[in-house]
Amino acid sequence: MKKFIYFFLLIISFSSLANSPSDTLKKITKNIYGVFGVPQQVSKENRGFISNAYFYISDKYIVVFDALSSYQLGKELISTIKKVSNKPIKYLIITHYHTDHFYGIQAFKEIGITTIAHKWAYEYLSDPYAIQFFESRKKVLGNYLKGTKIIPPDVAIENYAIINLDTETIEAKQVCKGHTNGDIIIYIPKENALVVGDLIFDERVPFLGSGNSKSWIKCIDEIIKLKPEVVLPGHGNVLVGQENILNKANFTKQYILDLRSIIKNWIDEYGYDVDYVKNNIVKAMIEKNPEYKKIKLFESVTKTNAYYIYFEVEKELFMEP
Ligand SMILES: [Zn+2]
Repeated sequence: MKKFIYFFLLIISFSSLANSPSDTLKKITKNIYGVFGVPQQVSKENRGFISNAYFYISDKYIVVFDALSSYQLGKELISTIKKVSNKPIKYLIITHYHTDHFYGIQAFKEIGITTIAHKWAYEYLSDPYAIQFFESRKKVLGNYLKGTKIIPPDVAIENYAIINLDTETIEAKQVCKGHTNGDIIIYIPKENALVVGDLIFDERVPFLGSGNSKSWIKCIDEIIKLKPEVVLPGHGNVLVGQENILNKANFTKQYILDLRSIIKNWIDEYGYDVDYVKNNIVKAMIEKNPEYKKIKLFESVTKTNAYYIYFEVEKELFMEP
């Protein structure tokens, strides 16, 4: 019986750990902290806490990067920040308008924090798909989405912005159209740290369904050129050290290159259709690199990616002279 209770307590403590931003809080550098979502698809069990958010405490102000995936999680993120520092939160910068990164925005808006994102956010929100997706997410999360509003940022960035924190500045820029058509990366010079959103991952495959995979490869090269010492991704582990960052960035890049080359060859040489591609891509990718098999969500995300890459590559082939 004792053993059973111990096991039960273990389950409780694990699930609360997975569900609460404050329990995942980590100090990353002298003045940067992060909270870390679970490597899963959205479910009631994880309350949609599947992505990371970070905050930087400058001399005067706090800047937050990403808002998590519901109003409630956004509020929990704010209370987690307040436990670390009582400096005012000046800005919320959203790396890209994907639901797990911006659905918490209302929590920041209602306490008067200026929200910033790439101007593509407006395009995303004007697409009926944004509402459809919100409705389908409500079906999965139910009450956990209570209070969540899909709203635009206060300030939109096009290519580049210097963000003034009074005694220092940080930079936000779009290096290319990659994961979405509106990804911004944020460079914090004092810590030589770079917030990269969903452009680079460690032990996770990227989602290739709403940007441009061909130019994403160039994004990764641009990020490498910046030589950050710390990379803060939207999912998974923080990357520390330039050599480690280079390895992980190249791994993400190679995944995209492998997926594109297999599908391009299948369309060009054999004329295979999208169903064939979806059904056979996992096996073909593992043949290219058995390491892929070890990555969380590899099979499900790769099948989805193959669907989108099929149409992207088909279009490229059609456009080629
Ligand atoms: Zn994303």
